[in-house]
Amino acid sequence: MLIVLDRHATEDNIQILLQRIKSMGLRAEVIPGSMRTAIGILGNTGYVDADSLTQLPGVKEVIHVTKPYKLVSREWKNEDTVIDVDGVKIGGKNFTVMAGPCSVESEEQLMETAEAVKKAGAQILRGGAFKPRTTPYSFQGLGLEGLKLLQKAKKKFDLPIITELLHVQNLDLVAANTDIIQIGARNMQNFELLMAVGKLKKPVMLKRGMSARMEEFLLAAEYILNAGNPNVILCERGIRTFETATRNTLDLNIVALVRELSHLPIIADPSHGTGRYSLVTPLSLAAFAVGAHGLLIEVHADPSKALSDGDQSLNLENFANLMNKLNHLKKFL
Ligand code: PEP
Ligand code: MN
Repeated sequence: MLIVLDRHATEDNIQILLQRIKSMGLRAEVIPGSMRTAIGILGNTGYVDADSLTQLPGVKEVIHVTKPYKLVSREWKNEDTVIDVDGVKIGGKNFTVMAGPCSVESEEQLMETAEAVKKAGAQILRGGAFKPRTTPYSFQGLGLEGLKLLQKAKKKFDLPIITELLHVQNLDLVAANTDIIQIGARNMQNFELLMAVGKLKKPVMLKRGMSARMEEFLLAAEYILNAGNPNVILCERGIRTFETATRNTLDLNIVALVRELSHLPIIADPSHGTGRYSLVTPLSLAAFAVGAHGLLIEVHADPSKALSDGDQSLNLENFANLMNKLNHLKKFL
């Protein structure tokens, strides 16, 4: 539920309202806005006697938020959330490209890729150190060594980094060594993990589960905001459908729909969304067209030698060409 305040509401009016809501056993949050200030009510809002609140001084109207997700909704906050990662902005009118290898494999591999993606214009370097793999026999990532290499690349090329956190046990380690924490598709509904990253202020990129509906995706983000972290970036990375010609189906419908329903930034990952490198550029352009706030792109100097996701990785030249194309589109932002 949202209480929209009168333009002339005083600080005293707000305090009285907050106390009243608290006495009803509910949690209140003041939401400042450029056009209006509102007070959001959280908790079990099954039945709230709204009439008792409408009549308090300073109240303009009481709106019932009908969606199960609240904090992530535009009803709650209409202005786009813009997240600042070391000066790189994500959300609003910005288009931000995160690029790098699926997995950090070696110092040479990471540095070569980092240098090339930076030169081509990527603003954030990606690279997995802890990898969620479908089979236990595949490369599982370099772990701590991978995190150290990412830190080295960050300093050398002045690029903020994003890497995946797989387990709550590694929370402090990963948080201390990355600028954005990635929660992967397989962990989208790992509620303990969501609440744990919600206790931090560090930006979190939440990937959509491969069989998650949009509502479940937004409710997963709600867990993080509800725990106290407003810095969430959503990532559409493709879902399972009846189609097997591509690894997944990049659901661009949801990118456009999430922009209508949520103030959070949403980026697209056409690498996992298609599983084929030849489709990454066309789907990146499509993602831009439907309003994605950015892209997550897997890049490898020699995709044929990649230890994970080589089939969907762009080589350095193809990535530079993609960035060139995107540059021509920036005027449409
Ligand atoms: C990845 O980004 O390399 C990854 C494992 O992604 P997802 O969780 O979307 O499969
Ligand atoms: Mn990958």
